[in-house]
Amino acid sequence: MSTLHSKAAATFCKDRQKTAWHDETFWALRQKRDAMMHMLPEWESLREHASAIKKHTLTHLADYLDMFSRQLESRGVIVHWAKDAAEFNDIVLKILQNHGVKKMVKSKSMLTEECEMNPFLISHGIDVVETDLGERILQLLHKKPSHIVVPASHLKREEIAACFEEKGISKEKGNQDPTYLTYCARKSLRQEFMEAGAGMTGCNFGVAKTGDIVVCTNEGNADMTTSMPKLHLVAMGIEKIIPDYASLAVFQRLLVRSATGQPTTGFTSHFRQARPGGEMHVILVDNGRSNTLADEDHWQTLKCIRCGACMNTCPVYRRSGGYSYTYFIPGPIGINLGMLADPRKYSDNVSACSLCLSCDNVCPAMVAPGSQVYVWRQTLERVGKADKLKKVMSEGMELLFDHPKLYTSMLHLAPLANLVPEAMTHYSNLNPWGLGHSKPVFAHKCFHELWKEGKVKK
Ligand code: SF4
Repeated sequence: MSTLHSKAAATFCKDRQKTAWHDETFWALRQKRDAMMHMLPEWESLREHASAIKKHTLTHLADYLDMFSRQLESRGVIVHWAKDAAEFNDIVLKILQNHGVKKMVKSKSMLTEECEMNPFLISHGIDVVETDLGERILQLLHKKPSHIVVPASHLKREEIAACFEEKGISKEKGNQDPTYLTYCARKSLRQEFMEAGAGMTGCNFGVAKTGDIVVCTNEGNADMTTSMPKLHLVAMGIEKIIPDYASLAVFQRLLVRSATGQPTTGFTSHFRQARPGGEMHVILVDNGRSNTLADEDHWQTLKCIRCGACMNTCPVYRRSGGYSYTYFIPGPIGINLGMLADPRKYSDNVSACSLCLSCDNVCPAMVAPGSQVYVWRQTLERVGKADKLKKVMSEGMELLFDHPKLYTSMLHLAPLANLVPEAMTHYSNLNPWGLGHSKPVFAHKCFHELWKEGKVKK
């Protein structure tokens, strides 16, 4: 019954101290989010409003994309359309080559991770430098993000200090002070900003009515990325469109409160046109999103605003870490996005869910990622990925529940299980689910019998 996720999670959990620390770190984010939520009495209606805006926009997507692109073009912005990751990468490469760019700085964008843009550009001789602190640390360590909002939060300061020392970014041996390390990162990035021929940002929201690219960061790195080089590229998934400023106000109130429990992001920047003497390109990427829109069970994933709240609250994510998942986005929303990308390749992640549905409750856009995982589980048989042992067990349960007499006789036999030593049922490799649990004691009389005997208090 082991999946790739559960094997990776078992490795992660071997370091019990780090597992507990990881759990606490992300639970603290969830608590901060709760504190913010309680400060807004209208929180639940904001969520409903956000969900309705997304539904409306997604059901009129072509119209809003058209409005958005025309607004941008009216101000000289060059708009490109990429049907998939390969087309997106080619468009970016051509723009950079046409401008003779050898180095590009970029702010955080999960879309570029999805399209594997960095390795593609690097293989064509273009240096790509991440400017978000967490992303930069991971780039230096040759690692991937383990969370969509706080990508390097799984790393401890000792690990970051050692990396900075090794790369010559920090000069003071053994200095692990976060303020010092941030200072070192800033100093080294400053040089990269000066040398870069282009800057790329992602896009949190694209406002159709005005053609604004709205980027939210806490470090101001998107602003440095766009104010040093004269060439600005925007990587944007087509689902990021919202109708107008009134809609933006709703999402702005929800996004960062849900993500990090702050009342607002440090920087919210609106980009509408190129700087004087510069050039701005917006690349709108589909890469499977149109197919998702046509999927009546899972179109809601397109409402996601990538706040990461579903990860912070997820007991499986917190206790198994982001790298245990086989898709590059972990946690509840990652399970869904992986299944939409390739259900055969990423199906093992659907087991990484306790179906507690805490993610459904915190999600600001009411994506219901947990409920959708439940739906994906029903499709495993169809894609040839149902676990054989679980199938046998489910069929056995079905047989019992369909035959009440058989069910009752089995209940009478259940107390025999009390005779089997716990070491065999719970602390052996035969039952990986038993590890960490104690064996329940079966009652000698079942509920039905006690009820008939009048021994159950009403
Ligand atoms: S599914 Fe909801 S909670 Fe999870 S990242 Fe998306 S918007 Fe946030």
